Amino acid sequence: MRECMGTHTFEDGYSFRALWTRDKVPAYISWEHWEQNQRKLRENSTKFGFGVSRGSTLLAGRVVCGKCGARMSVHYRDGIPSFDCTKASMQFGEPVCQTFNGRWLEPLVAELVLKAMEPTAVEMSLIAAEDIEQDRARLEKLHQQTVERAKYQADLARRRYEEVDPSNRLVAAELEKRWEEALISQRKREEELNRFVHERPSKLTPQQRETIKDLSNNFRELWNNDATSAKDRQDLVRILFDQIVVQVIAQSECLAVTVHWSGGYISQHETRRTVMRFDDLKNGAELLSRATELYNSGCPRAEMIRQLNAEGYRSARQDQFTDTSINALFLVLRRKGMIGSKPNSIGPWWRSRALSRKLGIKPPTLTGWRHRGWVQTKQVGSRWIFWADADDLPRLQQLASFPAGVEKPDDLTHPKSKMPEFSVNA
Ligand SMILES: [Zn+2]
Repeated sequence: MRECMGTHTFEDGYSFRALWTRDKVPAYISWEHWEQNQRKLRENSTKFGFGVSRGSTLLAGRVVCGKCGARMSVHYRDGIPSFDCTKASMQFGEPVCQTFNGRWLEPLVAELVLKAMEPTAVEMSLIAAEDIEQDRARLEKLHQQTVERAKYQADLARRRYEEVDPSNRLVAAELEKRWEEALISQRKREEELNRFVHERPSKLTPQQRETIKDLSNNFRELWNNDATSAKDRQDLVRILFDQIVVQVIAQSECLAVTVHWSGGYISQHETRRTVMRFDDLKNGAELLSRATELYNSGCPRAEMIRQLNAEGYRSARQDQFTDTSINALFLVLRRKGMIGSKPNSIGPWWRSRALSRKLGIKPPTLTGWRHRGWVQTKQVGSRWIFWADADDLPRLQQLASFPAGVEKPDDLTHPKSKMPEFSVNA
C-alpha cells in the first residue's frame, strides 16, 4: 500500500491538501461518495462561511448563485437575511454578481418543507422508499450471483493449474496466469458487493415508520412552535435540500428558484426580492404610467393607494402601497417630469375650483349644486371631491348654461353615472 498526499480540487475551484489511498486498497465507499462526504463536511463547516451558525436564516449554506454557481454569503439587515454573490468581486475585483434578500425566498422554502412533510407526501415517500429497498435487494442478489460466478471461475482455474503436468512448463505458466486473472476478477466483484452493501441506506423499522407518520400529522404545528429552534429548522432544510439555486431575472424583483432536493429531484419556483427603485420593477414603466393617469384624473390620494393595490401594483420593497410609499412614487414622477405640482384636472375626479372653471361657473354655485345633490361629491379631509365623468360632464355643462331663475328639468338635476365608492383613509 502506498499512501498519497496531494491537492484535491473540487468542481467549484475549492481545493485542499489531503491524504488518501485511491485505488490502492479495497474501498468501502466509492470515490464519488468520498467526494460527496468531503463537500458536505465543507458545507457544514463554519470555517468556510457556509455553516449554519451564520445567523438564523433557514437557508444558511444552501443558496447557490444561479449566474455563476458560487455559494452565496449571507448577512442580516433588520433581521432579514440578505444574500450576496461576492466570489467575482473578492477574487477578481469585479462588481458583486447578484444580491437579493430572503424576505420571500425563506417563506417559499418553508412552505416546500411543510408540503413535503404533509401526511400524504410522507406516505408517498415511505412507499417510494419501500420500492427502492426492493430494487436494492434485487441488485444485491445480482451482485452476490456475480461474486459466486467469479469464485467458481477462480476455483476452476486453480484446479486446472493443479492438474497440469509440472514438466509442461509453458502450459503451467498459461494456466497460472489465468488463475491469477480469475482471482483479481473475484476480488473486484467482492469489492463491488462490499461497497454496495456499505452504501445501503438504513432500513426503517415498522415502529420508525409509524413515528414518522405520527409526526407528519402535526408537523406544521411543530414547525411553527416557539420551542422549535432555528437550528432545528435549518437542520431539516439541510436534510431535505442539497442546494437552492437562485437567479435574479433581468435585474428586476423576480427571482427564479431551482430547488435540488436530496435524492435528486429538482423543482422550479418563482419568488421576488426588494429592489431599490421603481424603475427596477418588471412592470415599473407600467406602474409609473398608471400612477400618472390616476394622479391627473384628480384621484384622491387614499383612493389612488387603494386602486394601485387593487390592480396588483407593489412598491419597490414589494409591499402594498402606503402613504409613505405613494409619496416616494410622487417624488419619482415629479423628478421624471411625468406629473406637475397639481393634477391636470382631466377628471373624472375634480377639485371645486377646477370643476367650476371647466363649467364656467363660480365656486359658490357649485357648492349650491352640492347641497341640492345635483352633483356627486365626497368629503376627503377638509376638501370636497367632485365626480364628473365623460357621461355626466355634458349634463353639468347644460345645467351651467341653463337660464337662472327657471326651474331645472329633472334630467339635468339627476346624475347620469354613479360615483364609485372610494376610501378616504390610506
Ligand atoms: Zn454569482
